[in-house]
Amino acid sequence: MKSHYRVVVIGGGIVGSSVLYHLTRHGWNDVALIERAELTAGSTWHAAAGFHALNDDPNIAALQGYTIRLYEEIERESGQSVGMHMTGGVSLAASDERWQMLKAERAMYETMEMQTTLVSPEEIRAMCPLVDPIGLKGGLFDAHEGYVDAHGTTHAFAIAARKRGAEIILRNRVLELQQRADGSWDLITEKGNINALHVVNAAGLWARRVGRMAGVELPVVPMSHHYLVTDDVPLLASLEREFVSVTDLEGFTYLQPLGKGAVLGVYERNPQHWSPDGAAWDYGMDLLPPDVERILPELEIGYARFPALAEVGIKRWVNGAFTFTPDGNPLVGPVPGKRNYWVACGCMGGFSQGGAIGLTLAQWMIHGDPGHDIFGMDVARYGAFAAQENYLRDMTRQFYARRFVISYPNEELPAGRPLKTSTVHERLAADGARFGVSWGMETPQFFAPQRDDFIENLTVRRSNAHGFVGDEVRATRTAAGMFDASTYARYEVSGPGAEAWLDRLLSSRLPAEGRVRLAPMLGHGGKLMGDLTVSRLAADRFWLIGSYYLQEWHGRWFRDLLPKHGVTLKNLSDSWSGFALSGPLSREIVQPLLGRDLANAAFPFLSCAEVDLGFSKAVLARLSLTGELGYEIYVPAPAQPALCDALMQHGRGLGLRHIGNRALDSLRLEKSFGIWSTEFTQSITPGMCGLNRHVAFDKADFIGRDSALRERDAPSARVLVTLAIDAVPGKTQDADPSGFEPVKLGGRLVGYTTSGAFGHWVRQSLALAYVDREVVADPPPLTVDVVGEPHPARILEHSAWDARGERMRG
Ligand SMILES: Cc1cc2nc3c(=O)[nH]c(=O)nc-3n(C[C@H](O)[C@H](O)[C@H](O)COP(=O)(O)OP(=O)(O)OC[C@H]3O[C@@H](n4cnc5c(N)ncnc54)[C@H](O)[C@@H]3O)c2cc1C
Repeated sequence: MKSHYRVVVIGGGIVGSSVLYHLTRHGWNDVALIERAELTAGSTWHAAAGFHALNDDPNIAALQGYTIRLYEEIERESGQSVGMHMTGGVSLAASDERWQMLKAERAMYETMEMQTTLVSPEEIRAMCPLVDPIGLKGGLFDAHEGYVDAHGTTHAFAIAARKRGAEIILRNRVLELQQRADGSWDLITEKGNINALHVVNAAGLWARRVGRMAGVELPVVPMSHHYLVTDDVPLLASLEREFVSVTDLEGFTYLQPLGKGAVLGVYERNPQHWSPDGAAWDYGMDLLPPDVERILPELEIGYARFPALAEVGIKRWVNGAFTFTPDGNPLVGPVPGKRNYWVACGCMGGFSQGGAIGLTLAQWMIHGDPGHDIFGMDVARYGAFAAQENYLRDMTRQFYARRFVISYPNEELPAGRPLKTSTVHERLAADGARFGVSWGMETPQFFAPQRDDFIENLTVRRSNAHGFVGDEVRATRTAAGMFDASTYARYEVSGPGAEAWLDRLLSSRLPAEGRVRLAPMLGHGGKLMGDLTVSRLAADRFWLIGSYYLQEWHGRWFRDLLPKHGVTLKNLSDSWSGFALSGPLSREIVQPLLGRDLANAAFPFLSCAEVDLGFSKAVLARLSLTGELGYEIYVPAPAQPALCDALMQHGRGLGLRHIGNRALDSLRLEKSFGIWSTEFTQSITPGMCGLNRHVAFDKADFIGRDSALRERDAPSARVLVTLAIDAVPGKTQDADPSGFEPVKLGGRLVGYTTSGAFGHWVRQSLALAYVDREVVADPPPLTVDVVGEPHPARILEHSAWDARGERMRG
């Protein structure tokens, strides 16, 4: 053990070992791993170590594919067997709804270029003779599933890392962490003190405790999980190859081969947390006593689906603990506000994701960029709210219990709510709002006025709320609609250095005083970091508007780049709020509140001003996401109810009404407007999505400029287009794309959708999609798989509504 390393990884489970290996593989060899006991001594040793590539987040699916491909390589490099059993895996559908979902999933995986197959009950039975096919509709088969040996795999990573120069220090607990003024960390350990520039918390079951050593509260909590191992099953005795792993989605169980017996695991609907603050420091390689009573309902379903198991005994029960986060994805990356403190924890699928987490973290640490869009596992996708005890408990419990339960695109789950409400929440509720949630904030999806009894049906097709959404769209196109802008983030940037800082941060030119601009923000590699709007309220004072749920993520980016002096950054997201109001009558509604002229000559499109409403100061900007004449009006949050009442007082008689997210989606798709999280993400360049028209290529300097210039000269292979989706001949259309459906030309994959909705005003099903550039030049008839069924689709040359943008400027 040396007194100094460049990086120390705390924890020698599958994740920490992979992080260590990837650091060395990417060129950093002055690195060490410190393990409290032996390698695998946390969750890792008792894992069933099954793996799969499939995941409904395409970026995470791609990374899981990487993890699986890596196993052969580390086995070769280390000389240590990982015990690979590539059995293939099948997910079962025992209901029509699930069968439809699996068909849609197969199409989505095709988009990801992952070959999966729909198989019949007979084929399932041939793959796994333990399955009783009664009641089955079919299944989804993926060849890239199987299981490894947990001990061998962890050691293979460790041995390969050691061969590349890393040091592994066993039986040495890290007791304390202290940060020096230079940003490096002193690790106080049982065997002495070590200084490291970076520390990585890969402490698995103890991650919360190791977080607290640095003053960080991580949203991660252990839960218990059972599987049982059977004696040899006679039915398997004559089988020449192992049976295919099976996930019984309706049955809440999974089945894996093990010798001539089987492993039966359970995701019970009544899960249990274990040691919420993290395991005790002296927790050994022990199992928890089995709690068979609690998991009996699911076990009974399992034994009914796999009846041959009842004929043999149970060789061993395994009840162990592993960690969960509110959405079940790991926490990876630099912790916002803690210099040189990294996390690689909260991982519930170490054998599907461990390799990918190591790769991501090493690239991020060494090259300053994770290398791909990993927002789904970025620690900065959460704010402090997520680590609150009740929230964390309710969300993780919900996630575990619903692990195999169908989630519908229009479903709003109840756990952890309401956590945050805007100051107009009660007014919106009184008008019939049905809420969803964004980063803990309740946000209206649609309004069912005077219909307290209305319950939306859960479906992958158009729901019974379709008509309500249509009413909101029509009100906005003919009069005005207002959207609670509490789910936008607001930042004020001010000071003598504000202009210079923003000029480098944003790829667009900065607006003149009193003007607004759409400002793509790029990462160092030229991919998008934000689609902000920037308003210049004074020479040295700006407002940035972005996505509410990106506050921690953007905050980390801003803080990392903020100069020590001359620029003040304030996050006003919760202290200010307001409405985005748009529609042909919006000027008539807003103007009386202001006592100032809003005519085009006085306040043209993309103007902004600080104004006095009589009851409150406000910031007013003229822009809209709906394509209509529109304004955003922001006031200090306590004044938002008064603003709401004043707008309604002037507007209700003119047809003004509240609108929700669903109407906003319909309206923006009619205008071909992309938004963050669907069209604009961390893996997209400005040239792909059309935001390059806002990039000031002639600016001397901005972050990502070199890459943006390269892309200008060598355009991306795919571009964003709008698709009109038509009904399948002879059928009524009752569903719209929801994102990530394959777009095909004569059966060949040429792109994928990013979002879709029914355009209620233009009466057309619409989608935005990234499509091969050569297809766009001379658009042929295409197809899009909607709910797994190919529908005819056409590329629209212009947006479906007001292609010239006259209404917005009118
Ligand atoms: C019953 C069961 C079945 C499972 N089945 C599967 C499966 O089939 N497939 C799958 O992918 N996953 C499965 N898992 C989950 C899997 O085990 C985890 O995803 C994985 O082990 C997490 O690894 P880790 O490295 O993050 O954490 P851990 O394995 O918990 O490792 C953390 C390590 O950090 C060390 N440590 C902590 N604090 C300190 C400190 N202060 N100083 C030094 N060292 C410290 C610990 O001793 C420990 O070794 C299962 C889990 C259980 C319980």
